[in-house]
Amino acid sequence: MKKIAILGLTGSIGRSAADVILSHRQEFQVVLASSHNNYQELFRLSHELAIPNLLLTNTELKSRITDTPENIRLYWGDSELSQLLAELNPDIVLNAISGSAGLYSSMVTLSLGIDLALANKESLVMAGHLINRELQRSAARLIPVDSEHSAVLQAIGSTPLSQVRKIILTASGGPFLQLPPEEFSSITVERTMQHPTWSMGPKITVDSATMLNKALEVIEAHWLFHKDYTDIQAVVHPQSIIHSLVEFCDGSLLAQLGFPNMKLPILYALSYPDHLISDLSSTNILDLPWLSFLPLDEERYPLYYLAVAASAAGGLMPTIMNAANEAAVTLFLERKISFPAIHRIVADTLNSQNNFPDPDLETILAANLETYSRIINDN
Ligand code: NDP
Ligand code: MG
Repeated sequence: MKKIAILGLTGSIGRSAADVILSHRQEFQVVLASSHNNYQELFRLSHELAIPNLLLTNTELKSRITDTPENIRLYWGDSELSQLLAELNPDIVLNAISGSAGLYSSMVTLSLGIDLALANKESLVMAGHLINRELQRSAARLIPVDSEHSAVLQAIGSTPLSQVRKIILTASGGPFLQLPPEEFSSITVERTMQHPTWSMGPKITVDSATMLNKALEVIEAHWLFHKDYTDIQAVVHPQSIIHSLVEFCDGSLLAQLGFPNMKLPILYALSYPDHLISDLSSTNILDLPWLSFLPLDEERYPLYYLAVAASAAGGLMPTIMNAANEAAVTLFLERKISFPAIHRIVADTLNSQNNFPDPDLETILAANLETYSRIINDN
């Protein structure tokens, strides 16, 4: 039985992971789970999954929690994570924390030599170079949970990466694929939350509407599969059936298909490299809709092009881009700025920023916090 730690159990990915575990109780046992604020849901899920150790990362809640459920050890704050993981020694950590807050946990997990199932793409966006250095130093494996990268991993199989010519990531196009760009200033939070094919947490749902999410995934693919940015393409595929494709050096294209459901890539990341017998998801090929592909329109999705171009410079630029976007998305969700202002804030921030090559973790975390706080305070 595989011992698992789930960081961010109360989120969209975390709850899907809980369903995966409940359907595979013989294979997986959760030894540790975390959340930030939502302790009631964390306690409820820990009861359902019989999780003995819980971590609440928001230490400000300490005074509010008077009774902890029976048979549960409750720990507080990020600072406890390293020791907890060292003691519990899980076989794999699923990092399902949202945003830049997930980077610290990824680094801690890999530095302990523990396999990392990574949903938190921001870890690779901000510190792909450090994560790859950590992977070279230890025997730990990094397994993507993002559906596109899970598809690429499966399509590549055991083929040497040198024989992969191109990675093609698919994007649904989000809720505004058909909306004329001149109407973007009237976009509301409610409309943005209505993603056509996926049900996800609020931040990634906004990122899917601006297409910033796909830029994050291009950077994620760059670090996971060691491909140049020029060898990674994104296309709109509104049906979200083909989760991504790989083009090999002989011109052969391989894709992974299925109805959109995050439980499948989560299960694969937890069971990698095996495919477990499961009835979590099934796709009858005769039920599939017509599959179509479109280029990513630069007028509709300017943030995608801006973010990929800036991030390809490397160094601190991906961190600055990600922090600016995270702050802008927070402001949009709080209804303080308009939808097009997300692009404007990221563009202004990148324009006013000097790059810094090969930053260490401390520099990355400081730049992230400084950029995020400045934008929140200025708006
Ligand atoms: P959610 O917002 O639904 O969940 C986020 C989780 O992280 C919650 O458990 C939350 O705890 C916890 N959390 C929030 N802030 C902090 C913090 N400062 N420190 C520690 N934990 C924190 O996000 P999603 O599940 O949608 O996304 C999680 C990650 O997975 C993101 O990086 C996203 O890009 C990626 N991803 C998501 C997909 C999806 O389908 N949702 C698909 C592919 C990738 P609490 O509930 O207590 O606030
Ligand atoms: Mg994805």
